[in-house]
Amino acid sequence: MNQLRPCVFLDRDGVLNRDNPRYTYRLSAFDILPGVPEALYALKEAGFVLAVVTNQSGIAQKIYTQRQMELCHIYLQDACEHVIDHFYFCPYHPSVTQSLARKPGTLMFEKAIAKFTIDISRSWMVGDRTRDIIPARQLGIKTIQIGDEVEPEHRAEHTAASLAEAARMILHSRLNL
Ligand SMILES: [Mg+2]
Repeated sequence: MNQLRPCVFLDRDGVLNRDNPRYTYRLSAFDILPGVPEALYALKEAGFVLAVVTNQSGIAQKIYTQRQMELCHIYLQDACEHVIDHFYFCPYHPSVTQSLARKPGTLMFEKAIAKFTIDISRSWMVGDRTRDIIPARQLGIKTIQIGDEVEPEHRAEHTAASLAEAARMILHSRLNL
């Protein structure tokens, strides 16, 4: 019997690693943000599935290759003891190919929900952009935004300064269920 599991959906750039307006794909420029491995361990320990959902349209735009992105993900996994359960990425860009997977589309989330038999009602999305919050809200996933770049009409339920703070909120809220 499959038991439903809670999940923390994680945007990548600006949540796990420092965002770079010119795309983040060089390993030498892939800076993991402070406290990220510890936050991921704490969430994992509490029983959350950890699923990264990331738009990587630089692949379709031929700015970098899928392999370059994968090397960044291997580096990240190595830095956090491989606690991330899966990376969902959308390589497409509207100027090249439309895709339901590209956030604010919900398809990457739906794939994770099916694969890991996720309990949406106990799950969270941590992101830093409007396009992270929209699909999560559409699916009934609780939202936390990092920083202040989400458009006011789409503001998340909670705001945190970092993934470390977001993880504390999630774990605290779980205790209060
Ligand atoms: Mg981001």
